[in-house]
Amino acid sequence: MMANTSPTISDIETLQEVLQSATKEKINVKTVATITKNFNGQDLTDFKALLEAGAVGFSDDGIPLESSKVVKEAMEESKKLNTFISLHEEDPGLNGILGFNENIAKEHFHICGATGVAEYAMIARDVMIAYATKAHVHIQHLSKEESVKVVEFAQGLGAQVTAEVAPQHFSKTEALLLTQGSNAKMNPPLRLESDRRAVIEGLKSGVITVIATDHAPHHADEKNVEDITKAPSGMTGLETSLSLGLTYLVEAGELSLMELLEKMTLNPAKLYNFEAGYLAENGPADITIFDANADRLVDSHFTSKAANSPFIGETLKGQVKYTICKGQIVYQN
Ligand SMILES: [Zn+2]
Repeated sequence: MMANTSPTISDIETLQEVLQSATKEKINVKTVATITKNFNGQDLTDFKALLEAGAVGFSDDGIPLESSKVVKEAMEESKKLNTFISLHEEDPGLNGILGFNENIAKEHFHICGATGVAEYAMIARDVMIAYATKAHVHIQHLSKEESVKVVEFAQGLGAQVTAEVAPQHFSKTEALLLTQGSNAKMNPPLRLESDRRAVIEGLKSGVITVIATDHAPHHADEKNVEDITKAPSGMTGLETSLSLGLTYLVEAGELSLMELLEKMTLNPAKLYNFEAGYLAENGPADITIFDANADRLVDSHFTSKAANSPFIGETLKGQVKYTICKGQIVYQN
């Protein structure tokens, strides 16, 4: 989980409340805490105390850290504690209206949209601060061709940089906004075909080791506003993530099935030091059983309360048959 709840997970009390209510669920819920207090971008939270209370990492996801001084301090602190920070990279000072890639924003919506430079310039700054501090930084949901190159460059220098991509960014381009409207609005936005190709190449080369959903449920009423620029950004992503990987990576011949699964299970588990993501006798019984070859028409019936998916109506590969958590069947189809 990201920490952008209300209130944000910035102190021990809130963290404990979230973890306590998570114990009522049949699935494992783990959460990061915020890097700065209530996303204020200035004052670091108490990393040590939050880790001890069960936080698994730190992120101000959704609110990029504008202050390079704060980024440096957060990296120094996380390094001291043998953990890492994760960053949503879109510099507000270089950006227009979020959720619309700059090209389609200009040509179709006649607005100044979300620029590529806002993303890759901020990534460039932060990977170089990681290089200098020797801290580990994780770049969340990158979406631009240049971003992949910047991460590759920093990794080549020996910086401790890991990166992830969300399924929507290797599956679709900005054109989806024209047919799916606000359900295709997200931060960072869907980009160009050249960017989609570049993140796939990043997955193949190993520059990007993790596929993460950036799951962002929103109520239909929030999305169905007359002025699309006022609709919140984000899409419900958990329940289409496997099918998008099977369709746009495996069936498309980009990754093998095992390579896809490694990036969705083993690698993220390793990143966070979770006892998960592998199958072994007496190992963790957290298992998804699926038919990789079955066709699936995505409809609006999600197990999640939200259905803000731009993939409704599309036929994808893969049917989940069982989801098993801690040895118990929690979903059956
Ligand atoms: Zn984000």
